[in-house]
Amino acid sequence: MRGLISVLLLSLSSSVLLAQPRYFDWKEVAPGVYAAIGKPGVLSNAAVILTEEGVVVVDTHLRPSWAQDLLAHIRRITDRPVRFVINTHWHNDHTQGNRAYQAAFPRGTVFIAHHRTREDLLSKGIPNLEQTRRMLPERITRLRQQLAEGKREDGSPLDEAARRALEAQLADSEAYLRELEQLEITLPDLTFERSLRLWLGDRQIDVLYFGEGHTQGDVFVYLPQEQVLITGDMLVGGLPFMRDASPLAWASTLEQVGRLPIRTIIPGHGDVQIGTARLELYVRYLRELEQLVREQIQRGASLQEATEALLQDPRLMRYASEFPNFRNGLLGPNGNIAKMYQALRSHGS
Ligand SMILES: [Zn+2]
Repeated sequence: MRGLISVLLLSLSSSVLLAQPRYFDWKEVAPGVYAAIGKPGVLSNAAVILTEEGVVVVDTHLRPSWAQDLLAHIRRITDRPVRFVINTHWHNDHTQGNRAYQAAFPRGTVFIAHHRTREDLLSKGIPNLEQTRRMLPERITRLRQQLAEGKREDGSPLDEAARRALEAQLADSEAYLRELEQLEITLPDLTFERSLRLWLGDRQIDVLYFGEGHTQGDVFVYLPQEQVLITGDMLVGGLPFMRDASPLAWASTLEQVGRLPIRTIIPGHGDVQIGTARLELYVRYLRELEQLVREQIQRGASLQEATEALLQDPRLMRYASEFPNFRNGLLGPNGNIAKMYQALRSHGS
């Protein structure tokens, strides 16, 4: 009997140990400090810090259901509550899951962000959510229509693989819409200007603002004892995403945080990084892009002429192997070249 019980206990504990979040790769980067790396389709990451006084979560993904998946996993490893949620910036793929923590710990979780992120959530995050709520039903109608007619948007016939892909997109969009219908933005209730330090048990957690970059309100979360830096989208696996960025400030903001002793980085998207090589690459790339675009402006090039010249310039193209989808990230109205060009133009180069 005792043997049976110990077998049962063993299988129970190993199933708890083996259970993994559905949407994330779960990685311990220091004792009690975890990266939840978004699987394909989920994309954005979170960090989870266990302390004797409760749990701290950094960033909350696009969908509350993804945050719930992460929360279910947190509950498998600790019975302590999530005391603090830190949003590194306002983008919906880092904030819309706040609701899941609020629902699980009513009035028990404190939401922390920079002052400017709170402003951005009010002026951009809420309108952005309303716009998605309006546009998603149109997309669903289009997808249903294409499936009913057996044709793609360009009129070409759907083969079996394309049909299955459209069906998956439709199911995913419908699931997202159901979540959005219930969703309200949870605003930070604790904001700050320069830095904030949490003392939880023997853990020190610094929340730091060094200036503009990916948005106007990006904060870093830094654990000095463990030398772990959580960057939000100030550093990601791909090129800097500049739609809402201050391209001229980004490199110097990163340089400031880069002066801290850093062993491990949890980026906003993409895998965990050991050391600071990628942070340094970002700074070099951003400074070089600024210099190259400035040269083009000084010779009077239009944006289109500058873009054509830069795509031939080996000083820029040598970065292609460092970033996936390099050309896509450079081009288009929110691409790195256009955003840097506009920034230099409006600040006078
Ligand atoms: Zn972002």
